[in-house]
Amino acid sequence: MHLHPHSIELSSCFLGSVFYCLGCEMIQIEFGNLLIELKYEEFVKFLFFLQQSNFKKVEAENQNLPYNRKLVWQFTQSSIKAVFHQREAEGLLGLLSAAESALLRRSFSNNNHLFSMN
Ligand SMILES: [Zn+2]
Repeated sequence: MHLHPHSIELSSCFLGSVFYCLGCEMIQIEFGNLLIELKYEEFVKFLFFLQQSNFKKVEAENQNLPYNRKLVWQFTQSSIKAVFHQREAEGLLGLLSAAESALLRRSFSNNNHLFSMN
């Protein structure tokens, strides 16, 4: 089990935090009891899903599901699904959006650093 000791925090709120591993570039989302590790492409896909989702509408559509939380996300190549209340999904969206902004700022500042080296 690799727990990415060389990670920096990208964003944080009362629901959780997002970290970026400087060693292997994996993004880690600590959210409630979950620790979700994603490559950047998967992270963007997950963020896009949250951005596109009308949480209220999906929650209404899934009212008949037996689960307490009606918003369901299936992880790629895994039997694990994450389930959210509307407020948790909104919190997660804010958390991941802030993390993506931090990553973009980071890549810009790295590029600037490279340019200044030339
Ligand atoms: Zn790592």
